[in-house]
Amino acid sequence: MYDVAVIGAGVIGTSIARELSKFNINIVVLERDNDISTGTTKANSAIIHAGYDAPFDSLKGTLNVRGNKMFDKVCEELSVPFKRIGSLVIAHNDEEIKTIQELYNNGIKLGLSNLEIIDGKKVLEMEPNINRDVIKALYAPSAGIIEPWELAIAYCENAMDNGAELRLNFEVKNIEKKGENFVIHSDEDVIETKYIINAAGVYADSIYNMVTESDFEIHPRKGQYFLLDKEAGELVNHVVFPCPTKMGKGTLITPTMDGNIIIGPDSEDLTINEKEDTNTTNNRLNHVKDLAKQICTNIPYNLNITTFAGLRAEPTGGDFIIEASKKVHGFINVAGIKSPGLSSAPAIAEYVVDIFKELNPDVSIKEDFNPIRRARIKFEKLSDVEKNELIQKNPQYGRIICRCEMITEGEIVDAIHRNAGGRTVNGIKRRARPGAGRCQGGFCGPRVMEILARELNVPIEDILQENKGSVILTGQTKVGC
Ligand SMILES: Cc1cc2nc3c(=O)[nH]c(=O)nc-3n(C[C@H](O)[C@H](O)[C@H](O)COP(=O)(O)OP(=O)(O)OC[C@H]3O[C@@H](n4cnc5c(N)ncnc54)[C@H](O)[C@@H]3O)c2cc1C
Repeated sequence: MYDVAVIGAGVIGTSIARELSKFNINIVVLERDNDISTGTTKANSAIIHAGYDAPFDSLKGTLNVRGNKMFDKVCEELSVPFKRIGSLVIAHNDEEIKTIQELYNNGIKLGLSNLEIIDGKKVLEMEPNINRDVIKALYAPSAGIIEPWELAIAYCENAMDNGAELRLNFEVKNIEKKGENFVIHSDEDVIETKYIINAAGVYADSIYNMVTESDFEIHPRKGQYFLLDKEAGELVNHVVFPCPTKMGKGTLITPTMDGNIIIGPDSEDLTINEKEDTNTTNNRLNHVKDLAKQICTNIPYNLNITTFAGLRAEPTGGDFIIEASKKVHGFINVAGIKSPGLSSAPAIAEYVVDIFKELNPDVSIKEDFNPIRRARIKFEKLSDVEKNELIQKNPQYGRIICRCEMITEGEIVDAIHRNAGGRTVNGIKRRARPGAGRCQGGFCGPRVMEILARELNVPIEDILQENKGSVILTGQTKVGC
């Protein structure tokens, strides 16, 4: 019997699990996929927004501002790289100047004290490669960039270091109320718990429908992106947005934490039955190119290394839905967590735990909670002396597996054996970055598979690219080779 089952191992479910692991309770995180952060958390703009954008009287506005302030401490504790590079919203005409003034005023109401409206000349000094027709911009120095999947993995690892359990490949199919408790079924398994926290992303409405008729719906809204090689890394130095519209913050250009450039997203409403549609399409990517021209006409698309798409969880009402169900005791919804969900994650986790504590006033603090996650070694970033010392201790750090990103065997083995370790080729890419470079795993993919098979002691044919069914090898083509 668990005290709490968190459904969904995206950045929201894992941040909540980590916050809950500060208490003396049994926690399980249930995830339908083969890894953490395979949903929206792996495909978004990766910005920690300053918080001027969401309406000042909305929950998402308040939690964004609070969440942004928490990132330095959280990232230090969890050893997750995070940089406050600042953001700019560009205005080209009087109408857009009015919009950035409204954003500024909204930010002031939300308590942001460091926003500035700057003139075009200053913007061009900060961003010499953008179009020269900029007149003014809203500058928010506290905006930052992060790797969202690394944050979710780190949250989950730290929650597990503090006693939480993770069950992958557990797709919640049915929930029964049994007295005060819940019985949760997947196709192969069943667990019992006192409380449920529903953090199932675009499926949060379906999960709630399993216990009562849901009073909200979640519609998927797709956004597509280009990812440019590190060679394009000097294109912009800040997160550069156009003026927002009613469909969202617009198509931005930003450096990533690893020195690439991303361009996107667009905004396309899908039907409620299209929650698995994360394909990219030529039409929409051309539309992204058209939108990005508002900011910069010199984007080197010849340096594009991949494209991707993510699904926003667009809720009825437009705001985050975070509350204890009034109809089903012990069930807490954390639904409709679209942007700025990533930026709000630490604040959402605290907010949810406050709701949990209201339901459980006697829950006691875990005295030996350890907030620190062991840092992962980034071999390429070490000095020559440090590299040599490490290789002396463990020769696996002397073997480069991914030449694009200079990732060693030692880093891959570590990514497999940590709590919440990677089990798939993409899972290892998210944790240690082999395959994230220009060749996108063309060379290192087979080596990563061999290491996974060896370390997990399974046949290499069992190593998957990502989720169930994503088989890479089916058998030998030549017997006796
Ligand atoms: C295009 C785009 C751009 C964005 N940009 C930003 C940004 O720059 N900054 C920002 O702050 N926010 C941004 N966001 C929003 C942010 O990405 C999300 O708020 C955040 O990732 C939501 O995390 P989550 O954990 O709620 O959802 P998810 O990451 O989708 O996690 C939900 C999990 O639940 C699991 N699940 C679903 N059904 C079941 C089931 N039946 N049983 C078990 N598990 C289940 C899924 O497999 C998934 O892993 C963006 C979103 C999109 C789509």
